[in-house]
Amino acid sequence: MEGCLTPSCRVFWKCRVPLKIQIFMWMTFRDSIHSKVQLKKRNWAGQEECKLCGREESTDHLLFQCPVACFLWVFIKESVGWPLYPSRCEDLCVCLKSCKSHKTTLFICAGAMWVLWKTRNDHVFDNKIVPNPTVVVHKMVSMLRQWSPMVKQKEKRQVDEAIAKMLEALSKAE
Ligand SMILES: [Zn+2]
Repeated sequence: MEGCLTPSCRVFWKCRVPLKIQIFMWMTFRDSIHSKVQLKKRNWAGQEECKLCGREESTDHLLFQCPVACFLWVFIKESVGWPLYPSRCEDLCVCLKSCKSHKTTLFICAGAMWVLWKTRNDHVFDNKIVPNPTVVVHKMVSMLRQWSPMVKQKEKRQVDEAIAKMLEALSKAE
């Protein structure tokens, strides 16, 4: 992947999340976060394998294709009503374009991407393993709640509704 910074993807600058998350999303869409594949391009001496599943750890892999990421995106797909779940960064741009409540969905996606990155870093650097993929959904929900005072009133209602739906689905999955 060479990044997919098309104009439609630049909307994350309008996403009401903390600045460091906006920067993280910008780096993700440029394919410049420090996945192992990216580090390798900069002459890093380690192995490219994903610590969780053993496949090549590209940006698309760790944020969309690794089993925990798949679980989270399938879960979000059900909650926001996408026809398909994104399996690459570029797919996410397509999903976002198809959404009516664009900003709310982007807000949720920011939470998903950030929680997957944090989970990966906890595993790689601190050997912390999530016992169950539903834990990642819970972490995302608490992050979204933490950020929700930043969104506008109209979007906040949509965010609260989406969170309520996710928690309901989660209680069935557990
Ligand atoms: Zn993996």
